[in-house]
Amino acid sequence: VLRQRCPRCFRGPIFRRLLLIHRQCPVCGLKFEREPGYFTGAMYVSYGIGILTTAAVYITLLVLGQSLWLIGAILLAQVVVQMPVVFQYSRVIWLHVDYGFDPSPPLPR
Ligand SMILES: [Zn+2]
Repeated sequence: VLRQRCPRCFRGPIFRRLLLIHRQCPVCGLKFEREPGYFTGAMYVSYGIGILTTAAVYITLLVLGQSLWLIGAILLAQVVVQMPVVFQYSRVIWLHVDYGFDPSPPLPR
C-alpha cells in the first residue's frame, strides 16, 4: 500500500502521474477501475484520512494555545497541501481492501 502497487501482483504501479491512474496494472493486467463509479468508495477512505490528519493538527495547535484564526489558516493550508497525497492513498487503500474481499480475477498461474 505504501509503495502504491497493484493489489494482485504487488509490482505494478497504480498511478501513472500525480493524479492519473493506470487503467490496468502494467505488470499483471488487473483492471483497476472494475466498474463505472468504482472509486466512489475511495471517498470514504479519503474522508477518514482527512478527518484523522486535520483533527490531529487541530488538537495539537489547540493544546499549544494558538489562536483560532491561525489554526484555521494552518488547517486550510494543510488540506490543500495534503490533497494529492490523500487522493492517491485513498484510492490505493480502497483498491487493496476491495481486492482483499473480492480477489477476482485471481493472479493467473
Ligand atoms: Zn498487477
